[in-house]
Amino acid sequence: MSAFNPRNCKPFPKKGDPKRQLPGFETKQEVAERQAKLICTLEKGNQDAVEAAQKIRECGQGQDCLTPICPKCLRMFRRWYVSQLERLTRPHELWAITVVPPRVRFAPGELHNLDLCQFKETFSKQVSRAGFHNLVMFGGVDIDFCVHSDNDFYPHWAPHLHCLFIGENGQEVKAALGRFYPPDHIAPRPIRAEKVKDPMEAISYPMKPFFGRRVSYIGGNGRRQSRDLRLQADELQEIGAYMGQHKHTDLLFLKNVRRRGCNLALNGCR
Ligand SMILES: [Zn+2]
Repeated sequence: MSAFNPRNCKPFPKKGDPKRQLPGFETKQEVAERQAKLICTLEKGNQDAVEAAQKIRECGQGQDCLTPICPKCLRMFRRWYVSQLERLTRPHELWAITVVPPRVRFAPGELHNLDLCQFKETFSKQVSRAGFHNLVMFGGVDIDFCVHSDNDFYPHWAPHLHCLFIGENGQEVKAALGRFYPPDHIAPRPIRAEKVKDPMEAISYPMKPFFGRRVSYIGGNGRRQSRDLRLQADELQEIGAYMGQHKHTDLLFLKNVRRRGCNLALNGCR
């Protein structure tokens, strides 16, 4: 079976298309610039990174590469995903939840050991075991490279999930999931939930057009803070090599939402 290509779903509905409705949505020119820089960095990496660069360079020449790190394919995927979910969730109150699993961390050079399918499945089972088997939830896997400015922990890749859901109170879902997410000194707040104020922004967030470097530090108030920076070249090469072997749909998390061709639908609904 060929991989899902959102290009085949064009034209996207005007209402809900982030290209038209999401302020700051990346332009084609920004995508082209990002693509050129990315290829240049990946080409200086190992064999897998070089192969990822080649896929991205040849993307669109005959077929789309569909890799999650390709700016051109990601832009198309975001347009499809956001317009679908915006339509599906329009009448509902949305909650956003972020979970950072405490034992799923990878040292630099070890990201290739991440099994995305298993990662998503584990979270889905936790949601069910927490009593929310029928929860309508959707979002995606994101991966930060985490460092601490005072070396309070070792640098590592931290896969985590950004998801939205409807039909339940977010604080109750968070409380029920808490037993799976004990805080530790690396992730003092491994689970966060909040009511969504801007649906389109929140829906698009898990499909960010880049992966980042999260630097933790102790702020002037003595508490842990963090800032998000761009990945360094060797980090970008590692995640580029990893993503070059995956498709967008590998990062997509859907629970009680199904995809049929170009359309997403809630389970139990026509
Ligand atoms: Zn591509």
